Parts: sequence; structure tokens; C-alpha cells
Amino acid sequence: MGKITGFLEFKSKSEDYEPVEKRVENYKEFTVKLKESELKDQGARCMDCGIPFCHSGCPLGNLIPDFNDAVYQGKWQKAAEILHGTNNFPEFTGRLCPAPCEEACVLNINEDPVTIENIEKNIAEEAFKNGWVKPQIPEHRTGKKVAVIGSGPAGLAAAQQLNRAGHEVTVYERDEKVGGLLRYGIPDFKMEKNVIDRRLEVLEQEGIKFITNAHVGKNIAIEEVKLNHDSIVLCGGATINRQLPIKGAHLKGVHQAMDFLSQNNRRVDGLKFSENEISAKGKNVVVIGGGDTGSDCIGTSFRQGAESVLNFEILKKASVDRTADQPWPYWPMKLRTTSSHAEGAEREWSISTKEFLGDAQGNLVGLITTEVEWTHKLGERPLLEEIPGTDKRWDCDLALLALGFTGSETTLAEQLGLKMDARTNIHASVNDYQSNVPGIFVAGDMRRGQSLIVWAISEGREAAYYVDKYLMGTSELPLKGEGDLPRI
Ligand SMILES: Cc1cc2nc3c(=O)[nH]c(=O)nc-3n(C[C@H](O)[C@H](O)[C@H](O)COP(=O)(O)OP(=O)(O)OC[C@H]3O[C@@H](n4cnc5c(N)ncnc54)[C@H](O)[C@@H]3O)c2cc1C
Ligand code: SF4
Repeated sequence: MGKITGFLEFKSKSEDYEPVEKRVENYKEFTVKLKESELKDQGARCMDCGIPFCHSGCPLGNLIPDFNDAVYQGKWQKAAEILHGTNNFPEFTGRLCPAPCEEACVLNINEDPVTIENIEKNIAEEAFKNGWVKPQIPEHRTGKKVAVIGSGPAGLAAAQQLNRAGHEVTVYERDEKVGGLLRYGIPDFKMEKNVIDRRLEVLEQEGIKFITNAHVGKNIAIEEVKLNHDSIVLCGGATINRQLPIKGAHLKGVHQAMDFLSQNNRRVDGLKFSENEISAKGKNVVVIGGGDTGSDCIGTSFRQGAESVLNFEILKKASVDRTADQPWPYWPMKLRTTSSHAEGAEREWSISTKEFLGDAQGNLVGLITTEVEWTHKLGERPLLEEIPGTDKRWDCDLALLALGFTGSETTLAEQLGLKMDARTNIHASVNDYQSNVPGIFVAGDMRRGQSLIVWAISEGREAAYYVDKYLMGTSELPLKGEGDLPRI
């Protein structure tokens, strides 16, 4: 696969970013596309490594060496067919996936891995540019009706697969537009929303019906949905924010990250929002939480005109390289610096926030932190201890809580009599994605907890197979690793 000596001849080359001063002036994507010859060289770096460990690194089982080889040979349409055979939305993952495949790449043992994610994005963009992404309208309809609740990547993937199987699919979405966290969580500078809209057009042309402002269980009764469909796939995400119940958490200026991000994405899209405005303009911002959501808050704060941005992480600073206890090809917990971090945020690790400080009017003016130490004995859970005498006051007038998510909303589970699992997500076995109520399936974050887009697409595809099998007794939809080559 690729050029047999490619990995010896060509160095890894990733996309450049526009300079920070320029990119923070707007919310547009800021990557600089590689030339076609450079992309071919990157595809050529894929080795004929015998066992492509990258396959197992990718939750979708993408056929990576095959599309790398096609890119190396300049056969972009073939690459697009291979890629779409296992991934409904490579334009999302090509921009947003943390690329566990690259960690598992054999070249990554002692070299920079193949730039798989970037190759994927470019294949998807070529496919749209050249009109190769065409609606796949099923030849026969089965007469069965399926409701998909939630239009994030899991719901969209499930809907597309089920529609391909010939079922009549309706997607219910409570927001005013389709996309889930792709639209209202992830900022435009990571993925502009026309990327969702152009895919949505194809899904609509394929015959999938989308009903927005449709909050099932609230303004649409679940009983009605149940009555009108032969099966339901729940893809409602894992939306319950973790709280920080410390003194001062009620102050004006302390906000959940998701309130800040979704409001800004609506603002950028010219949509109205009813809540009070949250703005980082001219403020000293502290983002509490060092994950993806925290990083998105940092980039958004800079674009809103923050005076300064500090980022706190309670975990200790990870090492830049893999450590011996996290061997290749596994996903390592190593220090990651995102493009948003690099826009000027200061980062602190092993730090815990103890109290928010307010003025007489109830406005946030600062916070108190303490340093913490982690001890980890083999076979036991890591222990966190505060280090006495390390309390510190920081001035700030906006604090954004990006502390992760504790599980899924329970309304639909209660109304349908569904079991929850120990992590407050809706229980459904990975063997068939079916809940304890026959005909009701669950996929994506709502089943596995807050995760990744690539996992959501994978779960949506897998769940669709089992829904189809439940409805028809058998299914020709592909399962992971089986591919589905001719379709885009
Ligand atoms: C800020 C942020 C940034 C992220 N960045 C990345 C990233 O860069 N890369 C990555 O791989 N992952 C990222 N993730 C994670 C990723 O976005 C999620 O794992 C993924 O979107 C989950 O997809 P999903 O379809 O299961 O759920 P969601 O995307 O959460 O979609 C669920 C949808 O269901 C709708 N819904 C819920 N209940 C109902 C109901 N009762 N009736 C109708 N509609 C309903 C919701 O409105 C929502 O639109 C990020 C997450 C966050 C919060
Ligand atoms: S979807 Fe993610 S893990 Fe899979 S090949 Fe693409 S970048 Fe790699």
C-alpha cells in the first residue's frame, strides 16, 4: 500500500494554520490545505505493514491503507468510495477526530504516523467538490417506519443506514437545526456549519424526513411516536453537565461551558437565543477543565475578545511522549496542545478550584484554588489530596465550567420504562443496541456516555443493522469491518 519506499523518502507534513492574530478575528476554519502533490506523498508514506493496526485504532474500521494507496495514485474517486464504504460522514471525522488510528499506525512506533485524518478530510472535500457525493435513493421501500430521536452524528448515521435499507425514516430534533453537538457544541472555527448543511441536503434528497423543534417527551408525546413507527432509535446524547458545587457557584459570571458555546454558535449562525448574553469580551476568563470542551471555550473566548484566558486542569501534567505503561498501539494519555491552547491560553495542572469570589452586587471577581497531588497504587483508584498551604487567589470575571458530562437525560427512559446503566446512560447491549423494551434501540453518547464523533457514527451504523434485522429478520447493511464499497 502506498509507495513501498514512501515512508523512507517523505517526511510527515501536516496542514499549517493561519497566524493566530489573523484567525482569532473571525470564526472561520483556519487550516491551510496541502498541495495535491504533498497529499500524494503523505498517502505514499503508508507502509505495506502486513497487519494494519490503524484499522483496529479506528472505531469505524476504516480501510485506511486502501484509501491511502488510492490517494498516492491520484485516484481520488476510488479513495472516496472506499472511505464512504465505512464512514457516512468523513468530512466530520476528517476535521474533528482525535485520530486514534494515527496512534495505532505502525510508522508511529519510531516515526511520525501517516497523517490519516488529514488525508480523510481531503478525500471528503474532493468528493463534494467533484459531485461524487450523490443521494443514494433505495430502489425498494419496505413499508416499515423508523423514528430516530436526536440528530447528532449517531442519529444521522443511523438514519442514513436505515433509509438505505428501504425503511421510511423520520428524525426528530428538539433544536431549531439538525446536527447535535456538531452544530451547537463544536465551534465554527473547528468545523463551519455549511459542512453539516451540504450533507443534510443529501440526506433529505435520499428521503429522510427531519422534524426540528420537536422535543420528544415534551412537545411531542413519545406514545404518539411509538404508535406511528415500527421501531425507535434513541440518539439523544449525554447532555447532563457536571456541576462544581462550591461556594460562589451561583455568582454572575460563572457559567457552564455548554451554555457559552451553544449560545455563541447560535450567534455566529445569526440565530436568536433567549438566555442572557454570556460574553468574554474584555474579560479575564478562567476555563475550568482541560478537555475538548475547555479547549473550545478558550478559542471562543479569544475570538470574542477576552483580555486573558487561563485554563485549569485537575489532573497532573501528562508527558509529551508515550509512557511505558501506555504502549503502542493503544491510545496514550499524553500532553496535547490544541490550536486553541496555542492561541495564548495559560495552562495550570494539578489545580483544584475551591471557591468563587464575588462583589457586593453578586458579580464574579475571582476564585481561590489549591494545588493537588495524585497518588496511584497498583490496582487501586488514583487518590487526590490537596497540598496544604498552596491556596492562591486569581482575579477573573468569567469562569466557564468544562468539567465533562455525568450522563444522559432520563425523561424518555422514564416514559418508556427503559433501564439506565451504572453511569446514568440508557442501557442497551453492544451486542444488538436494543434496550430492555423490544424495538427501542439506543446509540451514541446516550448509550456509551459522552464520547467521540467517530464512535457516534460507528454506533449509529451498528444500531441500524440491528434495527433492520429486528424489522426484517435479516439485514444486508454492513457491520464494522465489512465495508460497503460502492456507496458514497
Ligand atoms: C464542546 C464539545 C466539543 C467536542 N469536540 C469534539 C471533537 O472535536 N471531536 C470529537 O470526536 N468529539 C467531540 N465532542 C464529542 C462529540 O461531539 C459527541 O461525542 C457526539 O456529538 C455524540 O453524538 P450523538 O449523536 O450521540 O449525540 P449529540 O451530538 O449530543 O446529539 C444528540 C441530539 O439529540 C437531541 N435530543 C436529545 N433529546 C431529545 C429529545 N427528547 N427529542 C428530540 N431531540 C433530542 C439533542 O438536541 C441533540 O441534537 C465534543 C463534545 C463537546 C461537548
Ligand atoms: S475516523 Fe478517526 S480514527 Fe477513523 S480513520 Fe478517520 S481519523 Fe482515523
